[in-house]
Amino acid sequence: MKAIQITHSQELNIIEKEKPQTIGVGEVLLKLCYVGFCGSDINTFMGRNTMALNPVIPGHEVGAIIEAVGAEVPENLKPGMVVTCNPYTNCGKCASCRNQRFNACQHNETLGVQRNGAMMEYIVLPWEKVIPAGQLSPKVCALVEPMSVGFHAVNRAQVTDIDTVMVIGCGMVGMGAIVRAMLRGATVIAADIDDEKLALAKKMGATYTINTKTEDVHQRLASITENFGPDVIIEAVGSIPTYQMAVNEVAFTGRVVCIGYAKSEVSFQTKYFVQKELDIRGSRNAQPSDFRAVIRYLERLTVDSSADNNTIESLITRIVKPEEALDTMRWWSENPGKVFRILLAF
Ligand SMILES: [Zn+2]
Ligand SMILES: [Zn+2]
Repeated sequence: MKAIQITHSQELNIIEKEKPQTIGVGEVLLKLCYVGFCGSDINTFMGRNTMALNPVIPGHEVGAIIEAVGAEVPENLKPGMVVTCNPYTNCGKCASCRNQRFNACQHNETLGVQRNGAMMEYIVLPWEKVIPAGQLSPKVCALVEPMSVGFHAVNRAQVTDIDTVMVIGCGMVGMGAIVRAMLRGATVIAADIDDEKLALAKKMGATYTINTKTEDVHQRLASITENFGPDVIIEAVGSIPTYQMAVNEVAFTGRVVCIGYAKSEVSFQTKYFVQKELDIRGSRNAQPSDFRAVIRYLERLTVDSSADNNTIESLITRIVKPEEALDTMRWWSENPGKVFRILLAF
């Protein structure tokens, strides 16, 4: 069977691997249909992902069909079902695991990052990691994991219908945050430097959009929030100015939730932490309930004929074959602002 492997910086090959021959007790064999390329995969490709194995088979955003199940797999998982997967592991022993917050396990190994991933024709996984995707197509299924990460951030922020929530960064994860904040009845402000992404954010449920490159962010926020500032700011970029913006612009007694993975140190006016009595919370990966919430949302869009299915389709920038993966990664590394998701189709 075919697999994609990133060997060195800027190098990606199609390799031949043996198809899994045996399915152990409690294991499920999946036939991969679509696997999304994540921001972490492009970082690996560009040699900037310090967490990644080398070489590594990337891929953890999965749209698959169950091919076969091993002994002692629960009956709700049957061959032919469309599924996605929870690509994280947890050690069971660290402080996060002790607190049942497995998504933030200290020793987490994500598929395709710290261990080989799903960009191959077949994969065997423990049944606990396989998530039924209801009526979703395998293609839409590949969007579930990145959206779940955004959903989780809104959960961390404890957003309710009286909140004004600003999401900085309208990539896939930021879009997830926008959607869940909208689902919870909040007023949502989407911020990005790309007008096309902002237009899509509006379709996904943002009430207001701000182009942080061309507009005066402070002024716009002042007029939208009666000078209070947003109750919640979710940082989904990971850059120095956006992190500082989150702390500086959030309302007094507001919540800042951090998803963006900054690669360098950021300096803050720490007086704001105190004066505003801020809650600053990290948000990592997603929990099973976040996956279920995303699947439910996407199902509603797919099943409800009045809903705009094209909105979801427009999150898929390109679908490519394994043979096109290398050129696609090169193109993406040169056009980082233009991509929501690229899916690899087997
Ligand atoms: Zn990802
Ligand atoms: Zn742990």
